[in-house]
Amino acid sequence: MAKINGKKTVFCYLCGHPFDVSTRAMTVNCPKCHKQLMIDDVTVKTYTAVTTLPSCGTIVVRARGRVVAKKVLGQIGVECNGTIEADIETTGFVRLGKKAKCKGAIRAGTLKIADGAQLTGPITVPWTNHDTSH
Ligand SMILES: [Zn+2]
Repeated sequence: MAKINGKKTVFCYLCGHPFDVSTRAMTVNCPKCHKQLMIDDVTVKTYTAVTTLPSCGTIVVRARGRVVAKKVLGQIGVECNGTIEADIETTGFVRLGKKAKCKGAIRAGTLKIADGAQLTGPITVPWTNHDTSH
């Protein structure tokens, strides 16, 4: 999708609904499920304990970053070079660097794992949450 007039198309990471937002927006309410969404990319550099870590963009966990959560929801993708102790859900990509450690289920559109990455948990690839027609 091209950027026109400072807008971009994002997909709601909760219900899969696509809609346009201002590129300057940090958070927005999904027009379909009315939940507040984080638009910006997220970079984790330190220990981060949350219930869910969501983004309509990309979530990057740096080498010293450690995410402890129930769910990591990166709509475009999740890149991990540190530690994630959470279920990862994305219809986009998951990329695990060689020092990545993941404890939890991974549900991803595509998955790329470097040699040395440690995984514990079930993996579902490809995964989609866009079928919400029922
Ligand atoms: Zn939604």
